[in-house]
Amino acid sequence: MKGIAYHGPGDIRLDTLADPGLREPDDVVVRVTRTAICGSDLHVVHGLPVPDRGFALGHEFVGVVEDAGAGVRRFRKGDRVLASCTTGCGRCTACRRGLFSACEATTAGGASNLFGFSCGLPGGQAEAVRVPYADANLLAVPTDLDDERILFLSDILPTGHMGAELAEVGPGDVVVVLGCGPVGVFAQRCAELRGASRILAVDLDDARLARARARGYETVHPGREDLGARVQELTHGRGADAVIEAVGRPELVAKALELARHGGRVSFVGVVLEPAPFFLGLLLMKNLTLRAGIVSPQAHWPKLLPLIESGRLDPTEIISHRLPLAEGVRGYELFDQHEDGALKVVLRP
Ligand code: ZN
Ligand code: ZN
Repeated sequence: MKGIAYHGPGDIRLDTLADPGLREPDDVVVRVTRTAICGSDLHVVHGLPVPDRGFALGHEFVGVVEDAGAGVRRFRKGDRVLASCTTGCGRCTACRRGLFSACEATTAGGASNLFGFSCGLPGGQAEAVRVPYADANLLAVPTDLDDERILFLSDILPTGHMGAELAEVGPGDVVVVLGCGPVGVFAQRCAELRGASRILAVDLDDARLARARARGYETVHPGREDLGARVQELTHGRGADAVIEAVGRPELVAKALELARHGGRVSFVGVVLEPAPFFLGLLLMKNLTLRAGIVSPQAHWPKLLPLIESGRLDPTEIISHRLPLAEGVRGYELFDQHEDGALKVVLRP
């Protein structure tokens, strides 16, 4: 089969890869019909250490069950399914608490339980992919929803939703969202659906800020204006009720605390991989609540699926490019460079 394979920092290729097969009784093999490129895939391409070479990238995919092991109860050949980006066993203590991303079985020995980060769990930017513990990690796609409306339930929509949930966004809140990339956009939408009265959208990309303004949000460009001063001005010196960090830059950790009001809530859903110093005294003085996490999409599906089905949320709005899988490497370039207004690139195997 064809797939976009990782060969080292800056080196990804369209390769012919081994067809996946069932390994365990609770596996399924999914024939991929739509997949997407995520910011986390760029982390890998930019040199995030991963143990292997030659595996298919990607952790956002939807498709059709091609083969199901004897132990799979919820799915059979021909079912349309969407996968979670992180895999859990569905049975351990962490999974039963809804923390699939911290599954005791799939992270045993320090293994990555994210699709597309190792040869042990190759990703979905390919024609087919093996999904372990299928009953815990796949969502049955309602027949009336097309692939693109469901695709972002793999990762970025639940991640944005988690940002709003962890920051306890509620009616009337003024919310700062740091980042207007795909996760930032979904954090904004979820904050809006939870009743936020004002959303202050922050980004360095003018095209992304223009999209936010078109949606009715106020915007700040920190390259041209002082972010802290501008948020103070926009909130009459009080600061924001909630701040959601959806970029993953270490310098934004301390900044997020500065932007929140006394008693405010700050959530971190952008993946920060470097040390990010902040002043604990500020946290104490301001009585702030800080929360952070890696998403367990499975735990968010019951809340998000009805919003998509009712049309209150249309995740396809972020799709800027649709390319065949064979042009996936070009898709990475577009997304990485924000070329041609790229916001989200979807691939068709
Ligand atoms: Zn991702
Ligand atoms: Zn588990």
